[in-house]
Amino acid sequence: PFLGTLVLAFIFAGDGVGRMLKARRRLDDAQAQMRRSEALYRVLADNIKDVIMLADAEGKRIYMSPSIVPALGFPLEELYEMPAYRFIHPDDREALRRKIDTFPATGGELKAEYRVVRSDGEVRWIETSFTLVPQPNGAPPHIVSVGRDVQSRKELEVELMDARLQAEAAAAAKSDFLANMTHELRTPLNAIIGFAHLLKDSPRLDSQDARHARLISDASGTLLELVNSVLDFSRLEAGAVDLDTAPFDPALEAGAIIELLSGQAAAKGLTLELVAEPGGFLSGDAQRLRQVLLNFLSNAIKFTARGAVTMTLTQLPAGAGEAWLRCEVADTGVGIPDSQLVQVFERFTQADVSVSRRYGGTGLGLAICKRIVELMGGEIGATSVAGEGSSFWFEVVLPVAEALAAPAEGADAAELERPVRLLLVEDVAINRELVKTVLAAFDIEIDTAEDGAQAIEAFGQAAYDLVLMDVQMPVMDGMTATRQIRALPLLAAQTTPIIAMTANVLPEQIARCIESGMDGHLGKPMNPGDLLNTIAYWTSHERTMQGAAPLARTA
Ligand code: ADP
Repeated sequence: PFLGTLVLAFIFAGDGVGRMLKARRRLDDAQAQMRRSEALYRVLADNIKDVIMLADAEGKRIYMSPSIVPALGFPLEELYEMPAYRFIHPDDREALRRKIDTFPATGGELKAEYRVVRSDGEVRWIETSFTLVPQPNGAPPHIVSVGRDVQSRKELEVELMDARLQAEAAAAAKSDFLANMTHELRTPLNAIIGFAHLLKDSPRLDSQDARHARLISDASGTLLELVNSVLDFSRLEAGAVDLDTAPFDPALEAGAIIELLSGQAAAKGLTLELVAEPGGFLSGDAQRLRQVLLNFLSNAIKFTARGAVTMTLTQLPAGAGEAWLRCEVADTGVGIPDSQLVQVFERFTQADVSVSRRYGGTGLGLAICKRIVELMGGEIGATSVAGEGSSFWFEVVLPVAEALAAPAEGADAAELERPVRLLLVEDVAINRELVKTVLAAFDIEIDTAEDGAQAIEAFGQAAYDLVLMDVQMPVMDGMTATRQIRALPLLAAQTTPIIAMTANVLPEQIARCIESGMDGHLGKPMNPGDLLNTIAYWTSHERTMQGAAPLARTA
């Protein structure tokens, strides 16, 4: 048994040695494995361009990848010695410190963009993402950061931002310039159109002079159209046009346009036809749709010598309370060659220069139409056969609307119901004279003021039925004057209608007039008929009984 015991003991001992040897081998393997993987990580860390850093909660760096040396220009040992945040740009230091200090509490993902200052003083943008590394025994976590140079991206961003700001400033300057320019153009045009209009009907002119006066009158009207088109187009291009949404009947609007141009068509011996099935009311910008139809129709009449011009309106349900509307104007006129058809919707293009010289026009009409229809989300187009005729069309989808009650009658009373005393506030002498001349034949007594301050003084001294107020004036502008008049402790200060009479015709300019306490607006150049209608309306018995109703507009 002793021997047996000995052998057993030996076997046991032998087994222990075997296990020890095995454990040793495993340890060696593990160490080799660790060395390999450490080497691998080191190769990665050493060769990655991004800067990898491990720091403790106090910001003391435990590890920095060698890529930090070329990134910052300091030797690695120096970087380990530097206080935390030392190489961060002073302007970004505090914000970054705050983010990192709160990071362990908030957790999640932290990304930051900040500038560093290199040893040579160069400043560069860095983008870094931070990750928390939990520590045993509740010790504060360490933080791993991976940073990357984003200087070129930042430079691009800055360039883009600069370019955008510049483009915006240029667009704003252009739109300001156009608003001012058209205002400046309208003011003298007001006098030219007004006096030419009066002159051409004068009985004292011989036929030759009357013809000249008529030519001036026609040409000045064309010039006004051009000024209006340029302003309209540039506002559409700048995205400064807002569409109205109000109920309207497309067939009714089309009928009105047909009626408006029936005289012109008749004068050329053309048949003018409207094919429209009643489709009910839609909600949209009727005035803008009329503008497109008017442009189609006046072109069709202009470019057709004989035959017919037909406007066709089709309206179909488009589901979900919407309707599809197609308007088409077809003519039997000169037509447009295929090669030029696509271009007619571009600005300032006319299909045939010799034709347009004969017919006039600016080449802006269809470009404006295209933008209006596109603003409504619709489509516009044309088909044509040279020598046979053209067809211009547009399609839009609009919400179906409830029918509106017909507008109250009486808004355009053309005759004065009673003598009127009027205060005309206008700084330009020729415009004062024009208004006086236009109104000379009527029972209207006119006092004048040459600026806002004079207007307030005049208002305090006499009772007026109406004030016609220019807006841009020296000393005090029309809006300030209106505000001050409305604040006077007089009943008349609240009830007297004040009508802006100004070449500022942009919707926002008109809105500002109304905000300042004016009741209505007459655009310059003014039309003598509109001027008289406005005076008749605001001094009618019905209106006077209601008192001045702010926010109502007459034009
Ligand atoms: P314009 O003010 O010159 O008429 P538009 O933009 O309205 O400007 O039209 C551009 C051009 O398209 C016109 O000059 C004309 O050459 C052509 N055009 C437009 N409508 C017609 C038409 N119905 N028939 C023939 N040509 C047309």
